[in-house]
Amino acid sequence: MEIRIRGVSKYYYSEGKTIKALDDVNLTIPSNKIFTLLGPSGSGKTTLLRCIVGLETPDAGEICIGDDVVWSKDKNISVPPEKRGLGMVFQTYAIWPHMNVFDNVAYPLQVRNMPKDEIRQRVAETLRFVQMEGFERRPATKLSGGQQQRVALARALVAEPRVILFDEPLSNLDAKLREETRKELRAFLGKLQITAVYVTHDRVEALALSDSIAVMRAGQIVEIGTPQKIYFDADHRFVADFIGRANLVKATVIAEKGGCTVVDCGLGRIVCQHRDIPVGSEATLCIRPEFIRIVSGAAPAAGNLAACNSVEGRIESLVFVGEVYEVEIGVGDEHLLARIDPDAKLKEGDSVSFTLDPAHCLLVAI
Ligand code: ADP
Ligand code: MG
Repeated sequence: MEIRIRGVSKYYYSEGKTIKALDDVNLTIPSNKIFTLLGPSGSGKTTLLRCIVGLETPDAGEICIGDDVVWSKDKNISVPPEKRGLGMVFQTYAIWPHMNVFDNVAYPLQVRNMPKDEIRQRVAETLRFVQMEGFERRPATKLSGGQQQRVALARALVAEPRVILFDEPLSNLDAKLREETRKELRAFLGKLQITAVYVTHDRVEALALSDSIAVMRAGQIVEIGTPQKIYFDADHRFVADFIGRANLVKATVIAEKGGCTVVDCGLGRIVCQHRDIPVGSEATLCIRPEFIRIVSGAAPAAGNLAACNSVEGRIESLVFVGEVYEVEIGVGDEHLLARIDPDAKLKEGDSVSFTLDPAHCLLVAI
């Protein structure tokens, strides 16, 4: 079920001030995919989700779910939340502590006055789906965090919603459980073939779970793309910086050459992935730490092909973080973060050369 959001704005008024929580949002969320709203705290993710669900009333625009207009300012339409055919999993109080597993999952069917036998059957099927069969009588308080999340998912799914929405559902779990539950959730959603809208501020979660990510800032959608597109090939500096560790270097475009864009910057002359930025313009060169390749031995001679994007620097600091060393390399006034093999025999003060693959030298607008 596709969701279309057109010109949606939402203001809050608090302490005499107007807060623009959503600023003319236009967005199409595709059918049967996992679509994530990613952004820093306060960027409007929860507000947008609550507008879709019907728990919040926008100030302008239109929201359609499939063929139904569920909210429209101009047409004066406002379908109540329970009639929108949605399931939702929240961050906190995901399940009711005073009820057992069965009652938690059965609740959405009981309020619909479904016959008891049918409720029992539907709850059993849904608990089987989330691998919680046999837990019906277990009090909610006697479940682990991961099990509680599965029950919350079962409760959101039991009434067979057209769309399921999640607001930071894993943020209360510890790091290891969060990773396991994320994998589980991805598998469950893959089997379901349902439209899922997922809100998070956690970039790794967004990258690992999503078919598509919309990055939000200050009530607006900045950019939408697959995890790969957003990580490797963002159009905006804010997105490139938010989605992962990035070295950002001020650069000036000096030429177009051989399908690449060439810039001058604090690292010297760097050949980058092609971007339509006019010669003479300022841009930001974005280099992820994992693509800085330290070369042992002497630097390739200038003029040699391998000399393309070869840079000399000095190791300023070295921090062992387990799988890699995080190294700060000084090049003139620039300081680059690199991630290198812990076997590398390097120490502070060493001179190093490194290369940058033009395919991983991304130019974004200032
Ligand atoms: P996110 O989920 O991305 O952290 P929210 O949608 O919760 O962001 O909030 C967007 C903006 O709206 C923030 O500036 C927040 O402080 C404000 N806001 C959210 N809910 C309310 C409210 N009920 N009253 C006043 N301001 C609110
Ligand atoms: Mg939120």
